[in-house]
Amino acid sequence: FKAHYKEEKGEDFPTDPAVQLMEAIKAVFRSWDNPRANVYRRMNDIPYSWGTAVNVQPMVFGNLNDKSGTGVAFTRDPATGEKALFGEYLINAQGEDVVAGIRTPSKISKLHEEMPAVYDQFADIANRLENHYRDMQDMEFTIENGKLYMLQTRNGKRTAAAALKIACDLVDEGMITEEEAVAMIDPKSLDALLHPTFDAAALKKAKVIGTGLAASPGAACGKVVFTAETATDMAKAGHKVILVRLETSPEDIEGMHYAQGVLTVRGGMTSHAAVVARGMGTCCVSGCGAIKMDEANKKFELGGKTYKEGDWISIDGSTGNIYGEKIKTAAAAISGDFNRIMNWADQFRVLDVRTNADTPNDAAQAFAFGAQGIGLCRTEHMFFEADRIKAMREMIVSETSEQREKALAKLEPIQQSDFEAIYEAMKGRPVTIRLLDPPLHEFVPTDPKDIEELAKEMNISVEHLKQVISGLHEFNPMMGHRGCRLDVTFPEIAKMQTAAIIKAALAVRSRRPAWKIVPEIMVPLVGEEKELAFVKSVIDQTAKKIIKAAGSDMTYKVGTMIEIPRAALTADAIANQAEFFSFGTNDLTQMTFGFSRDDAGKFLASYYDNKIYESDPFSKLDQAGVGRLVKMAAELGRQTRPDIKLGICGEQGGDPSTVEFCHNIGLSYVSCSPFRVPIARLAAAQAAIKAKKK
Ligand code: PEP
Ligand code: MG
Repeated sequence: FKAHYKEEKGEDFPTDPAVQLMEAIKAVFRSWDNPRANVYRRMNDIPYSWGTAVNVQPMVFGNLNDKSGTGVAFTRDPATGEKALFGEYLINAQGEDVVAGIRTPSKISKLHEEMPAVYDQFADIANRLENHYRDMQDMEFTIENGKLYMLQTRNGKRTAAAALKIACDLVDEGMITEEEAVAMIDPKSLDALLHPTFDAAALKKAKVIGTGLAASPGAACGKVVFTAETATDMAKAGHKVILVRLETSPEDIEGMHYAQGVLTVRGGMTSHAAVVARGMGTCCVSGCGAIKMDEANKKFELGGKTYKEGDWISIDGSTGNIYGEKIKTAAAAISGDFNRIMNWADQFRVLDVRTNADTPNDAAQAFAFGAQGIGLCRTEHMFFEADRIKAMREMIVSETSEQREKALAKLEPIQQSDFEAIYEAMKGRPVTIRLLDPPLHEFVPTDPKDIEELAKEMNISVEHLKQVISGLHEFNPMMGHRGCRLDVTFPEIAKMQTAAIIKAALAVRSRRPAWKIVPEIMVPLVGEEKELAFVKSVIDQTAKKIIKAAGSDMTYKVGTMIEIPRAALTADAIANQAEFFSFGTNDLTQMTFGFSRDDAGKFLASYYDNKIYESDPFSKLDQAGVGRLVKMAAELGRQTRPDIKLGICGEQGGDPSTVEFCHNIGLSYVSCSPFRVPIARLAAAQAAIKAKKK
């Protein structure tokens, strides 16, 4: 080691203890900046600027003789939360020996036999420490020649299940209040309890073959498939499958739904695959660039091995790890403690928690997790199933508004029945339905056979259809012909969707009069008051006619997404038209930063490495920039319309720090994917508790 030191540093290893001590201290400070520390901080929302501290203390020796020893103990079991001293120690050893694992330590209970007086003293101190800090403690101790020394104590790390049990037990023991119990649980940790997990022993033995982004949590194990259709077919035939794609597109929705998990080569945390998978609660690992994909020949290479259709793999959406084998999974269970904590949280929070849900299944799942409504129902996802896509394509390639209306007429009853099922699943809670948003080229066929078939059906030439399709090409679809721009060009779309929403609400109201449904129609991608006024007038004309014809007194609301900076800047004008705002912080983030949510993953890592950004602005709201726009727009909106309802429905809506921000600027609700509803409920309670203390 001394030779190595000299080689590295070009000088002898220092022999002066004071110099050694200073160098050791500097090494601790340097460790703040190592790559692992940076990753850990990003995962746990710890700012780089905090820095670290160094304690210098005299040493006691656990390796002096057989009346000496050292160990680590917890006041409760960190895995289960059970109330009992839990830990290990070694006789005649130092901390290093315990960590290095050269000797097998004994259970702390054995100390009771070996050194009864020391054990009793230790148990007494452990008890005092827990009573003092009013939380489970993780303690390090050394015994030197029969005398006990406490080296350190801290609140112990624990599993999510243990955290819930400990919090409930501490309340029952009279040690903390319900408010303190709610405040002490990390909302993000709940995620582990909501998805299936790998069997811990099986996971230990498995080998990681690659890593991608931990895009949607959960554990999935299945046979590799390369197309959404195969995923659907094989899953229907009873197989478990993992859909592996270069990237996913809206057409893959059904396959993604049927798959146990989704693995993609490209795409970041808010890529299509990630957003949709989180919404469905499907496990997803995205952006694993190391995969050498050969979709045409249905195989890929990773970690030096080739995987073909039908081969087993496992993916962990909570770590991003990929395994080239089958690993046993265990289903998620929601314990009684979980429920107790959530009920307490609901008493403290001010913010409502809604969900982003596009299907009755998602809605029912979110309802079960306590969602108070739907903040965003993306209607485009309903157009991809086999019976709909044809009519949709017909509508897109229509050249006259008559042709378009004819195609839309086929879609209207289908949309209506979707909306009815969603209203039913939400049992009368509010539902915000958004008009069609994506650019139309996402819906047209690319496969020559499909193009031929569609041309035949529409009674037009293949050449002509090809021209129409290439005419839909855009250089920058994200800023292209999408959102309310579609309704300005083709008001028939807004008309059809409004009719479907209003008719669905009327139908459900007549079956369930107690629910008092008030439809909320949301216009996407607005940037100008007159633009919204135009679409709103189409909605109003359609809705009023239908309601009047039905002889109903039903009311409805028209609102808008605020997802373009210009809409935020002119929110006072927009609020003249909009009865509610929903901040679409996915688009608002990409348009404010000027980088695409689908491409940013490629360069953001360099931004983290160079400390330019500390976190992904698509996962955690950038409060300094995007958040400033949100706050300003909320204030401007309220100036015009004091009772305006304000919510957020971008992906950040389920992130605890974003939830806290939304509470502090007085939004009415956050909306997030179904599996993040419990997290948002807890985060909202914590935000309220924290704000009260200030
Ligand atoms: C948004 O932009 O934040 C949003 C919710 O809409 P989408 O993700 O569908 O663009
Ligand atoms: Mg958007």
